[in-house]
Amino acid sequence: MAAWSAACAHCGGHRPPAARWNEGPVCDPCYTAALQHRGRCELCGQTRRLVAPHGPHATTCADCAGIPATHQCTDCGIEDKLYERGRCGACALRRRTTDLLSAGTGRIPDQFSDLHAAITSTPSPRTALNGSARAPAPVCSPTWPPAGSP
Ligand SMILES: [Zn+2]
Ligand SMILES: [Zn+2]
Ligand SMILES: [Zn+2]
Repeated sequence: MAAWSAACAHCGGHRPPAARWNEGPVCDPCYTAALQHRGRCELCGQTRRLVAPHGPHATTCADCAGIPATHQCTDCGIEDKLYERGRCGACALRRRTTDLLSAGTGRIPDQFSDLHAAITSTPSPRTALNGSARAPAPVCSPTWPPAGSP
């Protein structure tokens, strides 16, 4: 069951590509890194995803490079790796938390507003998303007797 792999256009590693971009196949770590690569554009000075020249040393945003911007959050417009329905991690977390605490009505009851603020102000929405997506692991205690000495 050899997975199809190709030389990544960014790092040169032979891995199954996560995407095929203009420059060629891009492996998963490079794909994620490229989507999350934000900084000050050398040309317009805005904090944007830097896409050109492609790879980790990009200095220019999509607008300045004249290429279409992709993977933009439909809620806040940030360029990032997107989660649910085209939303960035922070917006996806806010939506999910709002749905949960408002029982689907979109209105957070007063007693939950602090909790909502605490959850959505996390500096790492990705971790929070991954945590809430997974059921908590059951706590199990060892039941068999400890191994005796030989
Ligand atoms: Zn790569
Ligand atoms: Zn720019
Ligand atoms: Zn967003």
